[in-house]
Amino acid sequence: MPAPLAGGVSGPDALGELLGTVLASLAAGARDRGGPLPPGGPPAVDAAVRRALAADPLPARGVGAHEALADLTRVLAYGTADPADPACAGHLHCPPLAVAVAADLAASALNPSLDSWDQAPAATALETEVVAALAAAAGFVPGLAAGTVTTGGTESNLLGLLLARDRGGPSAGRHRILCSDAAHFSVRRSAALLGMGDDAVVPVATGADHRVDPGALDAVCRRVLAANDRPTAIVATAGTTDLGAVDPLAACADVAREHGVWLHVDAAYGGGALFSDRLAPLLHGIGRADSIGLDLHKLGWQPVAAGVFLVRDRALFAPLAQRAKYLNPADDEQAGLPSLLGFSPRTTRRADVFKIAVTLRALGRDGLGALVDRCHALARYAAERIDRDPGPGALELTAEPVLTSVVFRYVPHPHPGEPVGRHADLVNAELRRRLLTSGRAVVGRTEVGTGPGSVRLKLTLLNPYAGERDVDAVLRAVVEAGRAVERDL
Ligand SMILES: *Cc1c(COP(=O)(O)O)cnc(C)c1O
Repeated sequence: MPAPLAGGVSGPDALGELLGTVLASLAAGARDRGGPLPPGGPPAVDAAVRRALAADPLPARGVGAHEALADLTRVLAYGTADPADPACAGHLHCPPLAVAVAADLAASALNPSLDSWDQAPAATALETEVVAALAAAAGFVPGLAAGTVTTGGTESNLLGLLLARDRGGPSAGRHRILCSDAAHFSVRRSAALLGMGDDAVVPVATGADHRVDPGALDAVCRRVLAANDRPTAIVATAGTTDLGAVDPLAACADVAREHGVWLHVDAAYGGGALFSDRLAPLLHGIGRADSIGLDLHKLGWQPVAAGVFLVRDRALFAPLAQRAKYLNPADDEQAGLPSLLGFSPRTTRRADVFKIAVTLRALGRDGLGALVDRCHALARYAAERIDRDPGPGALELTAEPVLTSVVFRYVPHPHPGEPVGRHADLVNAELRRRLLTSGRAVVGRTEVGTGPGSVRLKLTLLNPYAGERDVDAVLRAVVEAGRAVERDL
């Protein structure tokens, strides 16, 4: 047979033979790259990909497994932004743990699908157990809570808003979703997808600490009610994507309870703090939410995708209930075959829970907590370095780190004829592109506030094996690139 299968008793042998090629090519591609991402920008990467494909992605006759794996794995590894390189710190894009990747191989080989028990007996049981353990860690009542593994924070936010929209209760008025003006854009997109209208999201002002102000939240809630609209959900963010700000969850829960509003906590980033004794107090009150989303492909070191959506009471999943004759006939369920079909909007669903289950067992809460703490300590170190020598030609810290991200900018010297804010924005945007296209560092870019002078750089530190010297090197690269851009302008 030209293409053996991965499963069964003999599949692992065939797989093992191919894996040698994959692993060797991963190493070769990383050597070809020689840094956090390949130098040369899109033209260099596009040309390398076309070469590896011999300009023919769908050849009439295949080249065979080893050749295809060798060429394409090598170019993928060469042309990657590798989060395992300490200079790759742009996004909430974590370097996955080897143990999680090894586990994911088993899930791929066996290919369980969680839409019915007869496609995934053990994976169904594992997901039920793992989700229950994470719900308990978040402070939900064991036995009552339920959840599902999702593709990430985007799907978890969609699910939270869907269940909030469809739960019983007052049904008059337009749906309004209340969240801080720093909430993730997927909240707005979810509201639009759910037919609540593009304007359904009502942003609530944040204070100087970038957290939602509970007084303002309460006032907006009252205003929505006074207008005969429906405050459908409050979305609190536990760890904003840029600054890592955590809304005061207990105070948000108070407001939600007072007005009978669903509370969804978007803990896509900050959920990992549940593993850390040091950072868990930031999430105080999270167990009072109706639903929670957290991403273990951020602070959890899983390969994508590893989102988790949790609900306080399994009965709240009712709007997603489905009876499909070919998947979960009622008599099968009565006979004791469990079905997870009603916990997800998806049908075929990969066992992303497996790598999570293996990682939680292998490292334990302590092991994961130590990784979270390590990244947090690195962020604090970076902030202290950034703050050390201020002034033109150096760096300026925007806010103290909360989780593992550091937001800052390079401060250029005054430029004749150019307003200060606009000039700083140009220099920071350009220096980041130079770092990317030279292959030297992956630094994030965002904006804090609006208008000229709002462009910022960001390090999202998710590599627990990076050291202080690595942070020093990235910051030095930023300063050098900033000075070079100034010289060229
Ligand atoms: C990353 C993130 C999301 C989106 O999650 P995905 O896993 O990318 O879908 C949502 N909310 C916050 C706060 C995030 O940081």
